[in-house]
Amino acid sequence: MDSRTQDLAKAQPGSASATSIERAERYSAHNYHPLPVVLARGEGVWVWDVDGKRYLDMLSSYSALNQGHRHPRIIQALKEQADRLTLVSRAFYTDLFGLFCERLCTLAGQEMALLMNSGAEAVETAIKTARMWGVRARGVPRDRAQIVVCENNFHGRTTTIVGFSSEPQYRDDFGPYAPGAFPMIPYDDVAALERAITPHTVGFLVEPIQGEAGILVPSPGYLRAAAEVCRRRNVLLMFDEVQTGLGRTGKMFCCDHEGVKPDLLILGKALSGGTLPVSAVLGSRQTLGLYQPGDHGSTFGGSPLACAVGLASLEVIVEERLPERAADTGAYFMERLRALRSPRVDHVRGRGLLIGVCIKDACGPARPFCEALQAEGILAKETHGQVIRFAPPLVISRSEVDWALERIARVLG
Ligand code: PLP
Repeated sequence: MDSRTQDLAKAQPGSASATSIERAERYSAHNYHPLPVVLARGEGVWVWDVDGKRYLDMLSSYSALNQGHRHPRIIQALKEQADRLTLVSRAFYTDLFGLFCERLCTLAGQEMALLMNSGAEAVETAIKTARMWGVRARGVPRDRAQIVVCENNFHGRTTTIVGFSSEPQYRDDFGPYAPGAFPMIPYDDVAALERAITPHTVGFLVEPIQGEAGILVPSPGYLRAAAEVCRRRNVLLMFDEVQTGLGRTGKMFCCDHEGVKPDLLILGKALSGGTLPVSAVLGSRQTLGLYQPGDHGSTFGGSPLACAVGLASLEVIVEERLPERAADTGAYFMERLRALRSPRVDHVRGRGLLIGVCIKDACGPARPFCEALQAEGILAKETHGQVIRFAPPLVISRSEVDWALERIARVLG
């Protein structure tokens, strides 16, 4: 039996879950390997499957649900906007567009925003912006611009982006790629950054914490030192905060932990509180100000619906103090996870409510532990083989963390 057939067998034959899984497996490409649970409803930190069983969501759609499932304020904004105007494309101005861009810029201390949809599109936009800045402002010859990236990066799944992934599965069968466009250096290595910069380097693209790589937190001072190198060498510092931004790590942006402001800040996921894809690149007039009409665009990017949910999502993050709550609850959660002293756990790492529990190699991969957690009513997903990621909505309370810890202790004990 392959693992997919085993998953089918785990859902009760003939149940609503089994029917849904069977249909998905038959008619959808197998580009994911979901846990065998079929969800039908969500509220706050909780989700329910089609058979009515309740689970604590410890994944939050890879940090897209920082505000929790169906936050009433965001859903109200979505419904009200849906009753007024959903889409006109950027061929016309709309009433909330400028306001949303302004709020984003104010929040991030930046001058301009460029709105897109998915995180990968925002990363692509940042890449285009850095290359354009290189050519138009710094005089780098066309088609020669380089952007330094890190090993184990994850920036999305478009063909440009997977071309500089160090993960063979993400990259190998999807080429051809432009050789030399994205020199790769080890993560958390400032000396390597210094060495990698050439006269054609226009940017350094980096995640302040590598999420998909298994919640890899760099050494203290890394971001500040990288910023210093970029400034001195006239290279744009590009932070991909699609996963770490908007409160997840205990600050509004993860780079705030080191008081660093990037030249280009890339946001997505929680920008819409889990309702629809909304992403953005933020930067200065020297960079984003170089765009001319027709250089870049997106039919849905910055739609009235996106702006309405975006504005509500930011309001919820600020007014409910989600970064502070993530710092507080995250520190508590991480301390209690470490205190479990599980013989199966090598170590616990992370920041705020982005936490990785690294299972010892000798205890096998993390996936079976995630399946055992599912049976206990907790949905968590493995990342990079050995790591269980715990990243619940930031609205989670201490008592809900305690509820989870009791069950996690049973699974890891
Ligand atoms: N960048 C980072 C750091 C991410 O974690 C992700 C998704 O997990 C992306 C970019 C891509 O975002 P999306 O899946 O919305 O394209």
